[in-house]
Amino acid sequence: MAHLVFQTAFPGDVFLSIPLIKRLRAFDPGTPIVLACRPGLGDFFLLNGLVDEVIAIDKRSRTGRAQARQRLQREEWDLVLVPHSSVRTALWMWGVRARRGRVSFRKWWNAPFFDKRVVRPDHLPDALRQMSLLAPIDNRVAEWFATPEVHDLANPIAQQSLSLRQPLIPDWASMELGYGGPMAENDRTVFLAPGSVWATKRWTPEGFEDLARILLERGYEVELVGSQGEKALCDQIASHVKGVKNSAGQTSLTQLVSRFSAGKALVCNDSGAMHAAAAAGLPTVAVFGPTTLDLGFRPWNNHAVVVQKELKCRPCGKHGPQKCPLGTHECMQSISAKEVYAALEPLL
Ligand code: SF4
Repeated sequence: MAHLVFQTAFPGDVFLSIPLIKRLRAFDPGTPIVLACRPGLGDFFLLNGLVDEVIAIDKRSRTGRAQARQRLQREEWDLVLVPHSSVRTALWMWGVRARRGRVSFRKWWNAPFFDKRVVRPDHLPDALRQMSLLAPIDNRVAEWFATPEVHDLANPIAQQSLSLRQPLIPDWASMELGYGGPMAENDRTVFLAPGSVWATKRWTPEGFEDLARILLERGYEVELVGSQGEKALCDQIASHVKGVKNSAGQTSLTQLVSRFSAGKALVCNDSGAMHAAAAAGLPTVAVFGPTTLDLGFRPWNNHAVVVQKELKCRPCGKHGPQKCPLGTHECMQSISAKEVYAALEPLL
């Protein structure tokens, strides 16, 4: 009998499941953990020993969906944890059996799908929200959530930037994987990840270009990273700044996190790269535009700073729309490379 973590949200959300999965392993080390997630994400969890098996949920393939559903319904699970509380996700739970119950967040409509429904602690960062699913089963988690320390970690108010003075994330809630030991002292690489699935969440290419120039002038090496889909954007930036290394589209998720275990820092958007850096323990500057920290998706990293502008129109969507509704994209256009470098310098 195994535990199932069913998490088919975006890569960033799946990274934020790491503290939940680490705790599940510590709580019940003798029981295998199976992760159901989107194709392409599971290898990272397998190779890092976080889980023992992966079920790829390919929502676009009818056959893939049918095979995954069969696999989910074939065996009786011990615990089933479901951090993503959409209707489509709940429907996947139909016919899934769990000895100690199927656990998710309470919604007015989801009682038929889950045996235990936890009130979602919306005031906390998402890594902690996900971990709270274990509170009805694991007494240690329930105790941690009852301490004032947890509430010190509550989401900053909408326009209050995160600085290095924030209360530290405790070890039990950390998503660091202890990659690679101490960072190489002589590695002067600063990674830039200019991509994001959502267009308005991307800081400007010109901003990344100017920042790359500032860093190169100061003797740092600059490396652009991103997925295959972000390669064109990275190529464009690399073509405008001589001396920049461009690895976009060349690394798997596992290789990217491993790469992040060396180097000085990452500058990115509110994106999956930000969470990959948190897993590697890489200092990070994240540029936030249409999203704000009170939504709960801060960098879950003790060495992170957020740069953002105070604007009445922020936030303008949970994820950030593909087009700025005002047509200005001021939240990103108004952030200069000098401001970002000023936030980065203390981390270097
Ligand atoms: S409406 Fe405001 S927050 Fe949203 S994309 Fe435009 S400038 Fe940014």
